Amino acid sequence: MNYKHLFCLLFFVLFVFPGFSQETETEKILKTFHSISSHELLGFAEELSSPKYKGRLSGSPEYLDAAKWCADKFAEWGIKPANAGSYFQDFPNEYSEVSSVGKLVYSSQKGKEINYRFPDDYLPGSNSASGSVSGEMVYVGYGITAPELNYDDFKNVDVKGKIIILESGVPYTKNDTTLTKWTPYAYHRYKFKNAVKHGAAGMIYASKIANPNTVNLDDFIYAHISNKVVEQIFADAGKDYKAVKKLLQKREAPSFALNKNQKISISAKTKYFPNAKSYNVVGLLEGTDPVLKDEVIIIGGHLDGQGQMGEVLFPGALDNASGVADILGAAKALAFSEVKPKRSVLFILIGGEECGLYGSKFYVENPLFPIEKTKMMINLDMVGNGTGFFVASGKSFPEIYKHFEDANDNFLHRTMNASETRKNYGRPRSDASIFEDAGINTLGLWTRNSVFPVHYHLPMDKINVLTPEIMEDAAKLLYLSILSVANDEGL
Ligand SMILES: [Zn+2]
Repeated sequence: MNYKHLFCLLFFVLFVFPGFSQETETEKILKTFHSISSHELLGFAEELSSPKYKGRLSGSPEYLDAAKWCADKFAEWGIKPANAGSYFQDFPNEYSEVSSVGKLVYSSQKGKEINYRFPDDYLPGSNSASGSVSGEMVYVGYGITAPELNYDDFKNVDVKGKIIILESGVPYTKNDTTLTKWTPYAYHRYKFKNAVKHGAAGMIYASKIANPNTVNLDDFIYAHISNKVVEQIFADAGKDYKAVKKLLQKREAPSFALNKNQKISISAKTKYFPNAKSYNVVGLLEGTDPVLKDEVIIIGGHLDGQGQMGEVLFPGALDNASGVADILGAAKALAFSEVKPKRSVLFILIGGEECGLYGSKFYVENPLFPIEKTKMMINLDMVGNGTGFFVASGKSFPEIYKHFEDANDNFLHRTMNASETRKNYGRPRSDASIFEDAGINTLGLWTRNSVFPVHYHLPMDKINVLTPEIMEDAAKLLYLSILSVANDEGL
């Protein structure tokens, strides 16, 4: 071949047969797909879990710093502010700062003092009042007074001036319409108020997790304790905790006062901010189709965590820095993708989830796109530890879910299962349920088959419990399937 022939061939390749030199749509998508890096995603999660954001307690200044950091990322990638020129959507969010890990001291039947250990035996109450309280104890089961259900945990006991031991939950476990009757009593806030109404001076909650989804009531001091500690206190009174719990599950309200010599003392140091505000971070990638751009797909996940207790950080790495990192990864990919979404894509990093789903409730009451134009929402919560995927409600929306299945089958090859939507007759427990109740086709993405232990709402929920490989694949799954849903004109 001489130079003249070579020139002719090049001319043919470059100009006559553009298929040779131009990338196909799939090639363009794959280029972006492969740019999603586990290294970068882990970096996002590490940033958000770092001590400077103090565990991202919704309402706190450090939460706002984390929100601003995420908004800066959106801006850097060309994702537009979605709320009338702002990346933020604000809502009221009272909160309490826990300034010390406090103290929990037990005085036994025989007068022996035990200093319980943080965080193995107890955790301070996220909304406890500040100060100290000590006294005799009364076990009140679920702490529910429901005359219409002929149920009262307080009926045979006097808790005035005493410290109650309380369980979370309600005495009904089936998810059916009967549960609806118990739902108002399932809220921690209800239980706290009912305890105060009956004159309790303080409380130990037999559910040892950090939990801002409670309420700050004047002078009401409380802490969370482990089941092991309750067992010990019961044993000291000659009671079998497991047997009592069985009675409780049978709706027998087995409340009783512990022995008079047994005493507990709780010390807490907190600061209450009743008028605080918090924020959803909202970023928009406008669709390219003149008609379809009025329809939107929402990718969301909560940015907030449980905060910090004294000097002890609750990093919330899996819950939910992982989900936010996945969303940021997908957002960046969608923003840089040469193949653009025809429908609009709205990213919401939700605030106030841990305090009681404040941010998602605020969004559905003040949506940035009409609800009927919202084609779907996918919520990510704890998506960063495991080897497989689970898509909640995927089976109920086959025309949406098929895009996720195709993406996984063709490019990711992870085990992926889906469930059908099942109405929850109990208390809503996730942002997804709020979007679902508002009438939006909502999916939930989780990782399955944990590689590392899951330290739910504990200081050990650190960056080292994340599996960056699945985070990369979660972002890739989102990128491929959301782009595909956004461009499916048949939807
Ligand atoms: Zn969460």
